[in-house]
Amino acid sequence: MVRRTFLLLMFFWLALPATAGNEASFQAGTRAFEQGDYQAATRHFQRAVQQEPGDALSHLWLGMALQRSGQLDHARASLSKALRLGGDSQVAEHARAALQALDRLRPVRQEAALGPSSWRRVGAVQGLLGEDWYVRSTRYSRVWARHADREYVKEFVDNLDRAYEINVDFMGTRAGTPINFYCFSMDSPAHRQPRFAGLGVTRYLGMAVDRDTCLMNLSNWRTSQHIEPWELTRVACHELNHIFLHNLNLRSTFDNLTWFAEALAYSIEDRVLPVSQQRSLETMRLALRGYTSVDEDWRALVAERDTDEYEQYRTYDVLLASIISFLQASYGPDAVPRILRAARNSTLEEGFQAALGRDVPTLHREWKTFYRIR
Ligand SMILES: [Zn+2]
Repeated sequence: MVRRTFLLLMFFWLALPATAGNEASFQAGTRAFEQGDYQAATRHFQRAVQQEPGDALSHLWLGMALQRSGQLDHARASLSKALRLGGDSQVAEHARAALQALDRLRPVRQEAALGPSSWRRVGAVQGLLGEDWYVRSTRYSRVWARHADREYVKEFVDNLDRAYEINVDFMGTRAGTPINFYCFSMDSPAHRQPRFAGLGVTRYLGMAVDRDTCLMNLSNWRTSQHIEPWELTRVACHELNHIFLHNLNLRSTFDNLTWFAEALAYSIEDRVLPVSQQRSLETMRLALRGYTSVDEDWRALVAERDTDEYEQYRTYDVLLASIISFLQASYGPDAVPRILRAARNSTLEEGFQAALGRDVPTLHREWKTFYRIR
């Protein structure tokens, strides 16, 4: 239903000549709208109506964007203006239909009045399966979930802002916000969503796909295993770390950052859990006691983990997290922000050299000595 209205609007936009004075703002608005960023869309359309106050189409889109961001009174005002300015055009007809739809949404309006932390019904979302999507904002994030999953994701939503702040401290930097988390249940996992179909099939529970987008599978669809809410919380913290790293735009001499990204994420992921559930240097020392390394270097660790065809017999999370604990124990608790700062305008490998005075092969040897790995 919502989707059909949206497509009709797209048709309008393509069919009508753009008004010269506000074309850039208008097009930026429709792009943001299509991406589901209704707050940005609202800003662009507000600029478009300032530039061309008589442009009924911009008022219509502004009304739609305001409606999607939950500002229903303002939405009503913009749609009324589009209706008035539109005369007997199709724009006016759509404004009238949108106003009538708004009146049917009155119960939702009461829910929206609870504040930014409550769920807001969105309906269909372009590129996602299902007609019953809801969105809920936190301070730094926006969580998208279907009607039946809202209760299940509550714990992880409640912990998201803390996970963000833990990552700020750990990385010494911030990621752009809001970060969108899309939650998918067992019957329609991330890779089956039309919008994310190009990502291929993986076993991941969470996947950071962009600077501001993270996909969450609420169950392990490969093993049909249920995931506990606390585990979702840990996955979200892990993926947030990847998003922080995406935002830094680091390069690598060997074109391979994954091992470092995973070492960072595994090392911070459980900090959002109670202390009793967190790894410590001592628990890692115990886990690695007697371990014989079979890898040429750290990069090989992740290549094996990421191969779906392999059976997996190693605890990659401990192995990878132990790299960061070793760096912090040997080079200071601020080793990570120092490396990231030094790597920012060169490469990760030069970052290690500049911040710690060691190259990666030397650090790999030191790590083995540190944990008595053979
Ligand atoms: Zn990861």
